[in-house]
Amino acid sequence: MKKKIEKSAEEWKKDLTPEQFHVCREKGTEPAFTGEYAHSKEPGVYKCVACGNQLFDSNTKFDSGTGWPSFYQPIESESVATAEDRAYGMVRTEVMCNACGAHLGHVFKDGPNPTGLRYCINSVSLRLDKKI
Ligand SMILES: [Zn+2]
Repeated sequence: MKKKIEKSAEEWKKDLTPEQFHVCREKGTEPAFTGEYAHSKEPGVYKCVACGNQLFDSNTKFDSGTGWPSFYQPIESESVATAEDRAYGMVRTEVMCNACGAHLGHVFKDGPNPTGLRYCINSVSLRLDKKI
C-alpha cells in the first residue's frame, strides 16, 4: 500500500500552477492538441506533476489521434486509481494518481493490444522524466 498524500486545496494551490490546479484538483481537461506531451515520443517515465508518483512508461504510449497523451497501461496497477464519473451525462471511468488523488484523465476500452485500454491523460497532470 503506497503512502497517501493529503493536502488542503489551499496547499495544492501554492504547489501547483493555476492550470495544474484546475486539471488535477478540479478535474479539468486541457484542450486537445495543446498539451506538452500530446505528441511526445521521448523515452522516459511520466510522473504525477503534483507528487512525483510514477504513472506511465513512454514504452506504453501510443498515438491515439485524440490530441491527448495516451497509454495502454500504467507502470503498476497500483500507480493509478479509477472511479466512475457520471459528469456531462456520460458514464466514464476517471483515472487518478493513486498517491495524491490528482485527476489525470479517463480510461476507455478502445485501446490497442495487449490491454485493449486507452488511458487518455492530460499533459498538464504529467511530468516526463527523460531517460538519458
Ligand atoms: Zn500524485
